[in-house]
Amino acid sequence: MRVQRSRTSAVSAPVRGLTAKALASPAGRRYEPAMTERFSFQLTARDGRARSGVIETPRGEIRTPAFMPVGTAGTVKAMLPESVRATGADILLGNTYHLMLRPGAERVARLGGLHRFMNWERPILTDSGGFQVMSLAALRKLTEDGVRFKSHIDGSEHVLSPERSMEIQRLLGSDIVMCFDECPALPATEEAVAKSMRLSMRWAERSRDAFGDRPGHALFGIQQGGVTRELREESAAALTAIGFDGYAVGGLAVGEGQEAMFGVLDYAPGMLPEDKPRYLMGVGKPDDIVGAVVRGIDMMDCVLPSRSGRTGQAFTRRGVVNIKNARHQEDPRPLDAECSCPACRSYSRAYLHHVFRAGEIISSMLMTWHNLHYFQELMAGLRGAIAAGQLDDFVAAFEAQRAAGDIEPL
Ligand SMILES: [Zn+2]
Repeated sequence: MRVQRSRTSAVSAPVRGLTAKALASPAGRRYEPAMTERFSFQLTARDGRARSGVIETPRGEIRTPAFMPVGTAGTVKAMLPESVRATGADILLGNTYHLMLRPGAERVARLGGLHRFMNWERPILTDSGGFQVMSLAALRKLTEDGVRFKSHIDGSEHVLSPERSMEIQRLLGSDIVMCFDECPALPATEEAVAKSMRLSMRWAERSRDAFGDRPGHALFGIQQGGVTRELREESAAALTAIGFDGYAVGGLAVGEGQEAMFGVLDYAPGMLPEDKPRYLMGVGKPDDIVGAVVRGIDMMDCVLPSRSGRTGQAFTRRGVVNIKNARHQEDPRPLDAECSCPACRSYSRAYLHHVFRAGEIISSMLMTWHNLHYFQELMAGLRGAIAAGQLDDFVAAFEAQRAAGDIEPL
């Protein structure tokens, strides 16, 4: 809170030509050639602790609060890039760990970088690889220098360090680069979380040095410290002393539960500089997203809409719909009558049920499209509500619709 008050004046400048309507429209703004060669962030509206704004990059604008679909291995599974864009996404996330192993960062660089390789010309944020090394790789050896590990694909040996992570993210051509950090596995003692956080802060400084000066590209620091307020304070102080273009709240959404996560989000974002984007990594379900935005988060990413789409789960205004359930097998109604995505506009629940049961590829395509569309509509709704100063009403309507549940079976 202290930081918020002292920096308020630095972020009050409005963005030229950016109206509340534009903020609220998911895909209403056509791509225009970049007006900027710099990375910048401007807040345009606030409602309580919630903020709305725009990140400008040479590859286009990112309207915040933003949800970033995850393109793990150079693709958002089951979606063409232009379809992802049509849902309203301004930015994608790519995974350093996956791309360094296959096809390899040097190869992507020789092929013109990740944007050209995967045919997505808008901004890309890459994670540092740290989290996935801890969760996916075998035979890890963690030292002050970095992590030595074996690939989960073929057992080959690799090293990730702050310097190598910065190099890989540069080779990929990432617009927003994340510091290399360690995220301790839960459950962990406070002592272990503190030790890990301090290592991550030393790695943050090495990441900053290795990143260097790259106009138009951003480096984000990652706050750690688990659910301990003092450790979050210490981490925020260390990061802001180094200085980053944006700050992530890390170490959440790793199994601590929503209540504990919201508990940290009640204070952690306020410890970070007011005039920089705040990114909550790996979040989340629609109610997690709404709760995080209410608490001052500007950016999020999650595999949930795409992964759940492939397993027959649809996120709707009325909560989760499991399309595999027998109740849908002769239901001619759309998944969500108010949704304008292709799955809802042109297909029945009965068809979506059938293609899921039959294992048809179009099932993943339609369900993923719907879910990504729903998530982006939710973000557009949040942006519009913040701009209008009506976030409380928006959240109340969001909760009431979910409480009402799915439409009655026929
Ligand atoms: Zn839909």
